[in-house]
Amino acid sequence: MTHISPSKLYPTSVDLNNCDKEPIHIIGKIQNHGYLLASSITDKTITRCSQNAGLLLGKDPEQLLGKSITQIIDGTTIGDVIHELRNKTVVYRDITIDDQEITIIAHQSNSEYIFEFERNTIALNAFEYQLRLTEIVSEINTISNLSKMCDRAAFLIKEYLGYDRVMIYRFDADWNGKIVAERKEDHLESWLGLQYPATDIPKQARALFLKQGVRIIADVASDTVPIISAKTCSNDHPLDLSRSELRAVSPIHIEYLNNMEVNATLTAAIVCDNMLWGLIACHHYSPRYINYYQRLSCKFLTQVFATRIQLDDTDHTLDQIKTNSLVRSKLIDQIDRNNDISFGLSSFEYTLNDLTDSSGAAMCIDNSVITIGICPSKEQIIELVQAIKSLTSTNQYHTNSFSQDFEAAKHYKDIASGVMCMFISNSNDDALLWFKPEVIQTVDWAGNPEKAVSVQNDLRLSPRKSFEKWSEEQTGKAVPWKDYEISGAVGLQKNIFEIILRKYEEVRSLNDKLKKAYEDLESFSYSVSHDLRAPLRGIDGFAQIIKEEYQDSLDEFCKSSLETIISSAQKMNNLIDDILAYSGLGQQSLQFEDFSTKDAVIEVYNMLKNQYPKATMEITKELPHMYGDRSMILLLLKNLIENALKYSSKENKPLVKIGVTEKGAFFVSDNGIGFDARHQESIFGVFVRLSNSEFSGSGIGLAIAKRVVDKHQGSIWAESSMGKGSTFYFKLHEGEI
Ligand code: ADP
Repeated sequence: MTHISPSKLYPTSVDLNNCDKEPIHIIGKIQNHGYLLASSITDKTITRCSQNAGLLLGKDPEQLLGKSITQIIDGTTIGDVIHELRNKTVVYRDITIDDQEITIIAHQSNSEYIFEFERNTIALNAFEYQLRLTEIVSEINTISNLSKMCDRAAFLIKEYLGYDRVMIYRFDADWNGKIVAERKEDHLESWLGLQYPATDIPKQARALFLKQGVRIIADVASDTVPIISAKTCSNDHPLDLSRSELRAVSPIHIEYLNNMEVNATLTAAIVCDNMLWGLIACHHYSPRYINYYQRLSCKFLTQVFATRIQLDDTDHTLDQIKTNSLVRSKLIDQIDRNNDISFGLSSFEYTLNDLTDSSGAAMCIDNSVITIGICPSKEQIIELVQAIKSLTSTNQYHTNSFSQDFEAAKHYKDIASGVMCMFISNSNDDALLWFKPEVIQTVDWAGNPEKAVSVQNDLRLSPRKSFEKWSEEQTGKAVPWKDYEISGAVGLQKNIFEIILRKYEEVRSLNDKLKKAYEDLESFSYSVSHDLRAPLRGIDGFAQIIKEEYQDSLDEFCKSSLETIISSAQKMNNLIDDILAYSGLGQQSLQFEDFSTKDAVIEVYNMLKNQYPKATMEITKELPHMYGDRSMILLLLKNLIENALKYSSKENKPLVKIGVTEKGAFFVSDNGIGFDARHQESIFGVFVRLSNSEFSGSGIGLAIAKRVVDKHQGSIWAESSMGKGSTFYFKLHEGEI
């Protein structure tokens, strides 16, 4: 009618292949200091029982299976418990069975209720008990220093529960644990400060701690008790004992405790922010049973302790966040006021290096590197930014052991084992960086962590035998980046993105305004120049009339004054021509065509040659055709050729050459006065004239030439030196795709 089934799903031995997946929650056994019954939720019939249940209930365990649980245990009590389980995860009741004081602890596991029966050993004086607890809680609450708090908690728990050794064990980011506080019997050797590898408390065991809170092993040496199931129970659904108080212990863990010569333990999970912060681990060197109510108190105390840790941590973090956001707002202000990211982050009261607990910080912007504090060299920084680009798919990166990610970084691990990088351009080329130095640490392991488990001949895993202190020097690691440091850096990155966007918008709107103002100015200068023509024509016309009609009656002074009026009017007329040509270019739309460059050059030369009879002009035979707005290009050629003729006119044999370079640039060269090469860019500005008063001109010709070239997406440049002649080059359509 029945069969014994420690679930088939639970491996009989744990080997290399299944160690980390050892399903301890379905172990199918309990410890022998209590009894277990499970019933179906629907009809309350007993589905399973621990093989020792008969000892408590006076019946063979097989006889219990299939019976209604209300027939076996006092119906009213069980009825109440089941009723309460609708709203609670765990329900407990004290009852007397056969003169034994028993506590029933009940919970639901999938489609079954689990009832566990434990001895209720101590008759409690409720008042004294509460008083003692209150004292302990208020004592824990008065201590603000974390390490003192841990020490006090260990002391109080030891006093309260009477274990030989009580340890507060704290996990690091890799789930290695360190004993940060310890209280023990005097004859025992101290384990304070020892570190335990993550494998000592594997993942699934940690998950169970989170669920259960407090757990005891009353006697490591005692036999475990199998749970037997009614035939109706499916083998595929073994009883899930995750929340069971009595669940038996993994054989590996028993072996581990045996190797430590420990006989009984209590472990309480310290949970902060839903994460396992650490454990309160109590060891006893003989069997020790702590009843359910003491365990509940321990759970309560652990919660108080965890809340204190969390509060302490939150206070510290809040302080850091406050300082951090103050520094961040100062930095942003500095950037804003100076319109310069690197300058704002490096040159004032607060620098990038103040944002985190880094020892150095750097900015890599537009391929130039600025460093603050202790940093790798600029070349190394450029190289490491490139490396980080390929290490991350996002725009952020941080590590406390950079040389593990980037081999070359081992050369400067003393300066930059901790690296945090925030990219501030879309292409991940510009970056903000923070560095932390290597902190060489001596870690005292409880036994060699490399040998945390050893493989037996039969491939079974066995926990290490030796817990002798084993020291290891850890290199290449910096103090890890704290959450508030990372979020401060991310915040700054976000702020800088916003600034860049805002500046871009500002520049765009300024640019639009400038374009509009420029257009207005052009049409204004065009109309003013145009309107000046009529009065100028009047001045020139009347001066000519006076000159022709009254020449003879004028004295010498009047004659020369008249000449000055006429020549000034002529100059002004030329200036107006130039201004009109220049501003007219801005409004003119282009009429593209293919035309002969040579013909255009000759046309221009013919316009000018009478003014410069001494000059010789040489044109390269093969001048390629041009494609562009012919009338504009005539203006370009006219200005370049006229300048060449003008500024060589004082030479004995003025020579102007027009041709094309091997790279396809047109050029106009002369053997004239030349100019200082320092001015080779500025001369293309409006009204720029170099000091050569013996040559007339308006200073607009080259500005017109540049404008024509710009309108054809080209470039224009000059080469010259004083007294050695000049060559002007231009190329069209360069910027076009
Ligand atoms: P300008 O009417 O004065 O010639 P441009 O704009 O054409 O005005 O030229 C600007 C200045 O560049 C000139 O004043 C002159 O000093 C210098 N320049 C231009 N072309 C030549 C050249 N071929 N040789 C020497 N100087 C030149």
